[in-house]
Amino acid sequence: MKKIGVLALQGAVDEHIQMIKSAGALPSKVKHPSDLNGLDGLVLPGGESTTMRKIMKRYDLIEPVRAFAKEGKAIFGTCAGLVLLSKEIEGGEESLGLIDTTAVRNGFGRQKESFEAELNVEIFSDAPFEAVFIRAPYLIEPSPEVSVLATFEDKIVAAKEANILVTAFHPELTNDNRFMRFFIEKMV
Ligand code: GLN
Repeated sequence: MKKIGVLALQGAVDEHIQMIKSAGALPSKVKHPSDLNGLDGLVLPGGESTTMRKIMKRYDLIEPVRAFAKEGKAIFGTCAGLVLLSKEIEGGEESLGLIDTTAVRNGFGRQKESFEAELNVEIFSDAPFEAVFIRAPYLIEPSPEVSVLATFEDKIVAAKEANILVTAFHPELTNDNRFMRFFIEKMV
């Protein structure tokens, strides 16, 4: 069985644990660098990217997570996880720099703090994906290596580059595990 870790410092951790189980893999929580040993893939959950980065630094997780990706292991970031994985964050905050695009935090503004939208996702031809957005970011300036998987109001909200998958929304807050299954079956 594939082993998938969830960065468990802050944010929507338990929902991802459930979704990993429902997609047929074995979840575990990652709090320390040694928790990455033996994992096949890693999820960076939603939450607050500023706080998550601070705690990652305190637990010395930044470089080990970068090294995990450089080994070719797959990482799936949702919302704040997308922000942390992006090469740049608009405004210049530090990021892990693992997908070649820029994240615009809270990009949908105050009018749209949280909303749901039906998305056509490039990799799912069967049915649209009902996406839950919460103070969501979006992506700009993807390099040619980045595949855009979904947009909402012309803004990029799901993308993939090599072993990195990101969504601006929260698939773990729905019952639709297609993103997690895609991640585990096709990327891990
Ligand atoms: N707005 C948050 C950030 O920029 C992300 C929100 C979320 O993960 N739901 O970090």
